[in-house]
Amino acid sequence: MNKPNQQKICSNCILPETFPGIRFNEEGVCIFCQRFQGKEEKLAQDKKKYEQKFHQLLNQLSQPSHRSYDVLMAYSGGKDSTYTMFLLKTKYKLRVLALSFDNGFISDTSWSNIKNVTDRLGIDLISFKPKWSILKSIFTYASMHELYSKKTLERASTICTSCIGLVKSICLKTAIEQNIPMIGFGWSPGQAPVQSSIMKNNPSLIKMTQKAIKEPLKKVVSDEIETYFLNEWHYSQSERFPYNVHPMAWEFYDERMIHKEIKKLGWEAPKDTDTNSSNCLLNAFANEIHVKRYGFHPYVWEIANMVREGVMSREEGHNKIYQEQPEQLIEFARQKLNIQEI
Ligand SMILES: [Zn+2]
Repeated sequence: MNKPNQQKICSNCILPETFPGIRFNEEGVCIFCQRFQGKEEKLAQDKKKYEQKFHQLLNQLSQPSHRSYDVLMAYSGGKDSTYTMFLLKTKYKLRVLALSFDNGFISDTSWSNIKNVTDRLGIDLISFKPKWSILKSIFTYASMHELYSKKTLERASTICTSCIGLVKSICLKTAIEQNIPMIGFGWSPGQAPVQSSIMKNNPSLIKMTQKAIKEPLKKVVSDEIETYFLNEWHYSQSERFPYNVHPMAWEFYDERMIHKEIKKLGWEAPKDTDTNSSNCLLNAFANEIHVKRYGFHPYVWEIANMVREGVMSREEGHNKIYQEQPEQLIEFARQKLNIQEI
């Protein structure tokens, strides 16, 4: 299924014929690449525009005496969030509070990265770990059943979507409770478009997005899930709803440069994770299930975006997606979750 030689792949990006809604022209170029043609200029303009917008936002938010932190960083310890946090602290001179979410599968190297980098940058850190019984129930259920809409699954696996849903919610709750006006995310340029890189959260939109994650999870762990989502008090604090920002959408992005920069902060590349994660030991297992279930890799959309937009070479992107998931990682997760077979 996941072998390139058995599958037709776009000759420009790396999307496979199994990707929902894909079509190819005579040159073997996919419909998504065809639509992108001629938009390079517009993308470069948008990047400039959003960078300016961010400076305006920082000016507008500059009343530091009203709060202890300027931005809450959703900090996974992976390379992208490490680099984003570095920019927020050193380039933009913001007072950062880091929040690391422990899903029970954070690699040891990642934990030491989290500690080293926050110390080196002089950043306060909160780590949050939901009880294992909850995490285990959610991941086990998600490995056997579908929980979310088709559109969601084009972008990420069911396990990843559940985990990120919790991360976003915990960050939002914390930002509202501590009156922090921005939440920083380390989305790569392929993961989220520049047009969403500066977004004010508002109660009605959040109610909808929370429902889309919370209701399916309620089926798995019943009312216990409420703890991790916003309650009526949070919704009544609309003036405290923060902006979401992901600066890498407009910043220069290059994997090698990022590795080089963050190494100076004491960050070490984990040797125990798969090619699409630099912190999570559950990712390979989640990817494997997704490929088996849907016939395409859950990271192929974002990696294809980066190849198409020229921030990653086609060969590099191809290598990330079209190789077997590491067997020992799949086995590790399967055993930890007590799952017989996938
Ligand atoms: Zn393509």
